[in-house]
Amino acid sequence: MAITGECFCGDIKYQVTGKLRDARSCHCSRCRKAFSAQASAYALVEPHEFKWLTGELELTSYVGTHGFGLQFCSKCGSTLCGIYNGLIHGVTLGCVNGDPEIEIGKHIYVGSKASWEVMPKGVVTFEKGDS
Ligand SMILES: [Zn+2]
Ligand SMILES: [Zn+2]
Repeated sequence: MAITGECFCGDIKYQVTGKLRDARSCHCSRCRKAFSAQASAYALVEPHEFKWLTGELELTSYVGTHGFGLQFCSKCGSTLCGIYNGLIHGVTLGCVNGDPEIEIGKHIYVGSKASWEVMPKGVVTFEKGDS
């Protein structure tokens, strides 16, 4: 069964035929802004296993430095995926439907988390990246 995801308004839908990989949550200041939240929640996908089902024309892209960007719904603002050099790189877990059979395995850049965030007990954390 393929994994599916969609934005808040439901106009944009996608499908991933493979598995999501390396789910992580990054607490750095840039990810907090990009995700409008305490951290990112993001997993990697293989580009050839990802396809848009509907609404692709409503996608807007923001590409930052180093070729990495985000794509979001121009109508409702949900951030759906990350792109790298024009290819799908990963999906935002918040827009995935149901259970994608993966859990966030690590919390990175916890050393620069927001002062107001309380980290849950028992999660795997790294002060910076995981290497
Ligand atoms: Zn939308
Ligand atoms: Zn980050």
